[in-house]
Amino acid sequence: MCLFLSEESCIFCQIISKIIPSNIVYEDELSLAFLDIFPVSKGHTIVIPKKHYQNIEEISDDTLAHLIIIVKQLSILIRDKLNVEGYNILQNNFPAAGQAINHCHFHIIPRTVDDDKFKMMIPRTQVSNEYLKKVLELLT
Ligand SMILES: [Zn+2]
Repeated sequence: MCLFLSEESCIFCQIISKIIPSNIVYEDELSLAFLDIFPVSKGHTIVIPKKHYQNIEEISDDTLAHLIIIVKQLSILIRDKLNVEGYNILQNNFPAAGQAINHCHFHIIPRTVDDDKFKMMIPRTQVSNEYLKKVLELLT
């Protein structure tokens, strides 16, 4: 399901304005964190800026810095209170990367060893240093 909607119909903006109820874990003037209604695991939390930014490229540096600190603090809280062994922090940008709601957000997904939730099955191939140098030329 793809939920690329305007700001007015953005589901996260509606959660911020309390039109849609949510289970709020944390809230301040810039950010809101709530429990995911489709959790991967117990305590799966979404952290969002209160202002509508479509992705990480749009978000102001100050707000992003604030958000990642909140993500860190909530990750520690979740690991401590829910007695989990680890967590994934996921942040997807654009549909190609799996972004389903176009309001910039972070997932905190609690994990335990062998929880069978998901594994990072990232196909990786070793490349030559010459290849890396060519890529570096494109980036610098
Ligand atoms: Zn929004």
